[in-house]
Amino acid sequence: MIHLQPYLHLLQRDQPLARFTAARLGGDAEYLYIARAHTDADAANEALIAVVRAAWSDDLPVRLIGGGANILVRDTGVRGLVVVNHISAFHLEDDAPTLTVWVTAGMALTVLARKLAALGIAGFEWAASVPGTVGGALVNNAGAHGGDMAGNVIDAQIVTPDGIQTWTNADLAYGYRASALKHRADRRFIATRARLRLTRDDPTAITARIEAFIAHRKRTQPAGASLGSIFKNPLGDYAGRLIESCGLKGYAIGGAQVSPIHANFFINTGTATARDYAALVETVQQIVLEQTGVSLETEIEIVG
Ligand SMILES: Cc1cc2nc3c(=O)[nH]c(=O)nc-3n(C[C@H](O)[C@H](O)[C@H](O)COP(=O)(O)OP(=O)(O)OC[C@H]3O[C@@H](n4cnc5c(N)ncnc54)[C@H](O)[C@@H]3O)c2cc1C
Repeated sequence: MIHLQPYLHLLQRDQPLARFTAARLGGDAEYLYIARAHTDADAANEALIAVVRAAWSDDLPVRLIGGGANILVRDTGVRGLVVVNHISAFHLEDDAPTLTVWVTAGMALTVLARKLAALGIAGFEWAASVPGTVGGALVNNAGAHGGDMAGNVIDAQIVTPDGIQTWTNADLAYGYRASALKHRADRRFIATRARLRLTRDDPTAITARIEAFIAHRKRTQPAGASLGSIFKNPLGDYAGRLIESCGLKGYAIGGAQVSPIHANFFINTGTATARDYAALVETVQQIVLEQTGVSLETEIEIVG
């Protein structure tokens, strides 16, 4: 830990991660760094990069967390350094007819979408009801209501042990909830910011679209601690429909339950462990395979 030594005062030891995940469960981070920008987002990003590079130099595993909305942290926790990225800032480059938004990876999608709407900037409405940060969405190609990151991203700043790079939309090789980053085996990268291509529209019209998306979500998806869609939709079908067709709505293991409202959402009813949650994912996957012949692929990522 020679390289990380100068930064140890910024890190916390053995910190529970449940409060940083949407499912509200999981074990501890061995070392935790919470990255925030109080005044200067560029300085906060530089500090974040310095800490992560030091950990890489010490061969310590590093895991970034944005909103923790797509990760299931094991009860045994995460070894090495966990960084919670809440660096939140954006600015505009308005060179009509193109409009570019620079945004830091730690910014919440919901907050960004609302702020853009108030400024009359359209094209990001889809994200107003998606939990998590720009960084997580960049990695996962998050999307909803017909929009997704692939449709907005011009490029992103990606830091690897080789240096600070600009990855274009093509470099990110986006697919359905997939990207070149998500499938990178070594995991030695962090996304620090992105440039999004957006357009202008009347703020009232943008806000009306946002409210319609949120109302639709409230009608069709459960509240409560969850990780959103557990499985990707197989080609031409819906994971939720398949799970429901197997009679699994409401099925529970320990404190983890298949939502009675939407079968592709698994709820932590309050007492779930990560072990319960993972067991439910595996059991549902197995029953759906046996009964329908469809092998469901997880959208969530198990960490630790
Ligand atoms: C109720 C609910 C509804 C949801 N609805 C949708 C939906 O409609 N559409 C959809 O696409 N998803 C949905 N999701 C899933 C989730 O919102 C998305 O996957 C989102 O993009 C996750 O972002 P995050 O910041 O929380 O990522 P995290 O869960 O924190 O991390 C996801 C991955 O990205 C990595 N990562 C995060 N930040 C960085 C960074 N800065 N640099 C490098 N790697 C990073 C993590 O290490 C991890 O591999 C939903 C989730 C919930 C809980």
